[in-house]
Amino acid sequence: MTNVVLLGPPGAGKGTIAARVAAELDLLHLSTGDVLRDEVARGTELGQLAQGFMERGELVPDHVMLAMVRERVNGREGVLLDGFPRTLAQAEGLARFLPVHAVVYLAVRKDEVVRRLGSRRVCPSCGAVYNLVTQPPEVPGRCDRCGGGLIQRADDAPDVVARRYEVYERDSRPLVEHYARQGKLITVDGARPPDVVASDVIEALRP
Ligand code: AMP
Repeated sequence: MTNVVLLGPPGAGKGTIAARVAAELDLLHLSTGDVLRDEVARGTELGQLAQGFMERGELVPDHVMLAMVRERVNGREGVLLDGFPRTLAQAEGLARFLPVHAVVYLAVRKDEVVRRLGSRRVCPSCGAVYNLVTQPPEVPGRCDRCGGGLIQRADDAPDVVARRYEVYERDSRPLVEHYARQGKLITVDGARPPDVVASDVIEALRP
């Protein structure tokens, strides 16, 4: 079984693409951002620890993330990691418990991700994601899937987006080079419609 890492700046479409690719290739989709948001919503110890970092657009400490991912992977194979690793230390830690076979880098320019994150809306009840410009809900402000009220993620506010992008450039971007050196990197143009991007990624990963 193949274990895949999905890299890219915030707003590159990692969550959307990961969900489609995981369904098509029968992989376990593990989004560390989704797991953390769920822990925050449930007020768990991990959620309380993570909340402040997330609200500021900073990274949750590496040892916390590594323990969280290790526990969820728990010996499984066929995993699609979305939003992890985000630092070299996380990548090195990951390599000790899960072999990474392929790394997909969704390349999207900064002006495009800033534009996308500003118009992103999410459904806090079922997790569906919309874009007011490219993928608006049928009824404004209402989730197509469950009828819940749509909100803007607190960390999609402009000042937090700017901070998340800086943190991405400083801490996460070096992973592109790191995995390229290992010969595992597949770069995909992420600035196209999600269907097109997803089918490219699926094609590249298909055995
Ligand atoms: P995301 O939904 O992937 O944009 O993640 C939302 C937030 O969760 C990030 O801005 C970080 O605060 C935190 N987070 C998610 N994944 C990681 C990770 N691998 N390492 C550190 N923090 C993370």
